[in-house]
Amino acid sequence: MTAHRRWYCNCSGAQRELVADPYVEEDTLEPTCPLCGATPSSDPKHTINYTDHDDHAD
Ligand SMILES: [Zn+2]
Repeated sequence: MTAHRRWYCNCSGAQRELVADPYVEEDTLEPTCPLCGATPSSDPKHTINYTDHDDHAD
């Protein structure tokens, strides 16, 4: 069973999907908010949330 977790940050007042840059250094592979730089493990303002999507959902 495969699920894709999509991360969002609402620091701007709207849900913005985090982006996972494949070219960043290996130790920063987490998805990152392009606006505030928050990540799922570094979320000082508690603006990060996520939804899980099953493969067959779409
Ligand atoms: Zn943000």
